Amino acid sequence: MSEYICPHCGNPIYDDDALLCMYCGESLKRDVGVFGKIKYTKPKIIIMTVVGLIVLSFVLLVIF
Ligand SMILES: [Zn+2]
Repeated sequence: MSEYICPHCGNPIYDDDALLCMYCGESLKRDVGVFGKIKYTKPKIIIMTVVGLIVLSFVLLVIF
């Protein structure tokens, strides 16, 4: 379960499926919240995935 920060009131939302903020009732705008999610919730996982892909492609480049 990931934490999502409401763009309106700044409170953390712990429900992944929630479309409305439980504090202020505003829409969480999940459709445009992808970048917000990357920014606020899982920066380490994104960076690790990118680094992993770079390392993997480098290893493949060395092998072939
Ligand atoms: Zn809110």
